[in-house]
Amino acid sequence: AKRLNRGRATLFTEDLSLAARDRIRLLTSLRSAFYAERLHLAFQPQVELETGRVVGAEALLRWTTKEGQVIPPERFIPLAEHSGLMIPIGEWVLRTACLQLKRLDDRKQSGFRMAVNVSQTQFREPDFISMLDRVLREYQVAPEQIELELTESIAIGHMESTAAKIAEIRRMGVSIALDDFGTGYSSLSVLKQLGIDRLKIDRAFVQEIGRPNDSGIADLVVALGRQLNLGTTAEGVETEEQRRCLMEHGCQDGQGYLFGRPLPSADFETWMADNG
Ligand code: C2E
Ligand code: CA
Ligand code: CA
Ligand code: CA
Repeated sequence: AKRLNRGRATLFTEDLSLAARDRIRLLTSLRSAFYAERLHLAFQPQVELETGRVVGAEALLRWTTKEGQVIPPERFIPLAEHSGLMIPIGEWVLRTACLQLKRLDDRKQSGFRMAVNVSQTQFREPDFISMLDRVLREYQVAPEQIELELTESIAIGHMESTAAKIAEIRRMGVSIALDDFGTGYSSLSVLKQLGIDRLKIDRAFVQEIGRPNDSGIADLVVALGRQLNLGTTAEGVETEEQRRCLMEHGCQDGQGYLFGRPLPSADFETWMADNG
């Protein structure tokens, strides 16, 4: 019977494409990495463009395998999303970000906020708000110190329930940023209906600044944010020219290699001691 089963398993795996097998292997390895606490967060500063003052940081998920291979989040997060694993991972990200906030507590100026990415499946979970509330209480983090970064795709097909959820989260005091703005499908009316606090301008648009092919989208998004009274944060700011240009157009905050790369917890604390 053993041999028979093995025969069947072999046939089955042969039917799967190489890519599918790779994904299954990667997901299995991600699951064990998560439960063995081998995922960690990197923290990237967010600064006020005009003054250089550090206003916050974004928590970014990192995975280095036992073999020392770095797997980019763009590769493993979609897998975690489809398998439901992103729900416990997302809660862990929030907890770890809160812990980091507490560790910075004595050093940082008030008003420092931690930006945490929230995936679609995680946000749609009926328990999401109670989880958020529970974690903030547990770590005694003020809701004002947390900003959730959601992507436009979160609202597709769920406009009303998404807007209601966002409203409830903001009533708690937690703010909401729309991530990668301009890369998705959302129309201007969606933007108004969602009722958010901040727009994050995608790196793709920021990197066009100063180039001959500049489409001017970064400027448009900044103007839109101002028009709607939203905060604006440009991501992927790498050059002084980009910083100056964004600032002159009225963009508030920026994040990118020009100011600081994402750093592991201990290095970020050192960075904050020197720059915060
Ligand atoms: P994102 O939210 O748009 O994060 C910004 C990405 O830009 C990060 O990539 C960051 O390392 C990178 N970056 C920042 N400054 C610069 C710069 O000046 N130049 C360049 N070239 N890149 C810069 P990363 O860390 O690889 O993350 C990729 C994406 O994975 C994130 O994009 C986000 O969508 C997702 N992600 C990361 N952590 C989490 C998480 O905890 N939960 C969820 N749901 N998604 C996450
Ligand atoms: Ca983000
Ligand atoms: Ca982004
Ligand atoms: Ca992006």
